[in-house]
Amino acid sequence: MAMEQTFIMIKPDGVQRGLIGEVIGRFEKKGFYLKAMKLINVEKSFAEKHYADLSSKPFFGGLVEYIVSGPVVAMVWEGKQVVSTGRKLVGATNPLAAEPGTIRGDFAVDIGRNVIHGSDSVENARKEIALWFPEGLAEWRSNQHPWIYE
Ligand code: ADP
Ligand code: MG
Repeated sequence: MAMEQTFIMIKPDGVQRGLIGEVIGRFEKKGFYLKAMKLINVEKSFAEKHYADLSSKPFFGGLVEYIVSGPVVAMVWEGKQVVSTGRKLVGATNPLAAEPGTIRGDFAVDIGRNVIHGSDSVENARKEIALWFPEGLAEWRSNQHPWIYE
């Protein structure tokens, strides 16, 4: 079976508000596998690279300041259609438009403090994982696998 990987980041507000366990719990309970994780502070130039596609947006400067304002939790999650389904767990970009039951819908108000990042395509996931985890990922296979996946 083709398993996808996605890059998920808990932003500085999510870390400071104590939402790390909540976010990880939602991805775990859904049936996805944590393949890599680290708590790190990133440099301005690194945040600019991660959000390079948005460099022409008026909010770009504020977005970069936000991402470097405290530690973030960078993660790789694996599973069936984890990129698109991960985006569903994350919810809409604007938390006021995000459905209740999604992470942003349940825990955020402002678009500039929306708690979490999730890759928007398989191709961007691949690029983001390479950027954030140049050291590579630990190899492991969960014993739960046959109970979650046919
Ligand atoms: P998403 O994170 O849902 O993929 P985008 O890629 O469009 O959304 O934007 C990246 C991040 O930039 C958003 O998660 C949010 O933190 C920030 N952002 C997007 N639009 C705005 C905006 N209009 N004002 C302030 N911040 C924004
Ligand atoms: Mg995006």
